[in-house]
Amino acid sequence: MQNLLDLDADALIAWFAERGEKPFRARQILRWIHRFGETDFDAMTDVAKSLRALLKETACIQPPVPIRDNLSTDGTRKWLMDVGNGNAVETVFIPEATRGTLCVSSQAGCALDCAFCSTGKQGFNRNLSAAEIIGQLWLANRLLGAEPNGERIISNVVMMGMGEPLANFDNVVSALKLMLDDHAYGLSRRRVTVSTSGIVPAMDRLREECPVALAVSLHAPNDALRDKLVPINQKYPLKDLLAACNRYLDKAPRDFITFEYIMLEGVNDGDEHIRQLIDIAREVPCKYNLIPFNPFPDSGFHRSSGPVVRRFSQLLNEAGIVTTTRKTRGDDVDAACGQLAGQVKDKTRRTQKRVVPIQEVR
Ligand code: SAH
Ligand code: SF4
Repeated sequence: MQNLLDLDADALIAWFAERGEKPFRARQILRWIHRFGETDFDAMTDVAKSLRALLKETACIQPPVPIRDNLSTDGTRKWLMDVGNGNAVETVFIPEATRGTLCVSSQAGCALDCAFCSTGKQGFNRNLSAAEIIGQLWLANRLLGAEPNGERIISNVVMMGMGEPLANFDNVVSALKLMLDDHAYGLSRRRVTVSTSGIVPAMDRLREECPVALAVSLHAPNDALRDKLVPINQKYPLKDLLAACNRYLDKAPRDFITFEYIMLEGVNDGDEHIRQLIDIAREVPCKYNLIPFNPFPDSGFHRSSGPVVRRFSQLLNEAGIVTTTRKTRGDDVDAACGQLAGQVKDKTRRTQKRVVPIQEVR
């Protein structure tokens, strides 16, 4: 059985061509699946009966299965998706006044082992399939009650959940293409963001194959410190990373890179780091997004204090560099950056948590 969620438009057209069907049929099916959220071939009434019969025999539409659905007091919603063998990944929806952002996972676990990251501490289990990646958006739309022709509830997608998206390149790009496809989700390239810890060759490939907005997890402004915090830096040091950022900007939908910078008390929040960040901003057109560290058990790090973060931000802004500080959302359901653990274990003892029963998924 071919899971049709695994196929982007080109792959679906090729799959249909092998069965003697025209490209427009593939686009029709794409719309049924992604725009209308349909899983029942019989309901696809404008598709010829014979084709429906063939699809029923050889294909299916199988999104991931949500096993938990948590709603934070601030409206952030987090789903745990079963990906088999006792593994699960997390997807987070963050509503704001002017947009709704879905934070999507790309791997079960992560092999890159950044020092401050709870996902990295779990180790790596496997890459998610394209169906499991786009399936998070498919399912979130359904669970949020999106109407095919209604107002868009999810306006932005960020690949900032569990895993390193560029280490699962092909499946992530298939999913990205569906996010952008007018017959599927039709999101603008500027509203789809890949976040990477800096896998330089894959950044170059992304620029060629599917340029979307790019966020780079910088977290340290010099190699000595970055080698420790983001170990992939030992392979692709800052000089190479910054050069790759500039190459990326040639084709990017935005004219700056967002550098994510986690604020770790006494580690990367000193005056010398501000100076080094200003130097980096002279090399690469960028914005800084400061992320207060979200603690997890035995991390060994502490969040920089509010005044330190504010001063850091102020000095960067005064140097003419747009700098924002990420608001921590969904704290009470462990949905904040870097807290996505995805294990299937009962955390419901925590106070404040409101567990919403999983709605019927059709
Ligand atoms: N692997 C990719 C994307 C997933 S992580 C990457 O590293 O960019 C998404 C963001 O959350 C990254 O910027 C990551 O560094 C950050 N992050 C990881 N652990 C965190 C923590 N404990 N507190 C705050 N942010 C964290
Ligand atoms: Fe992996 Fe990103 Fe976590 Fe690093 S921060 S371990 S790259 S998920």
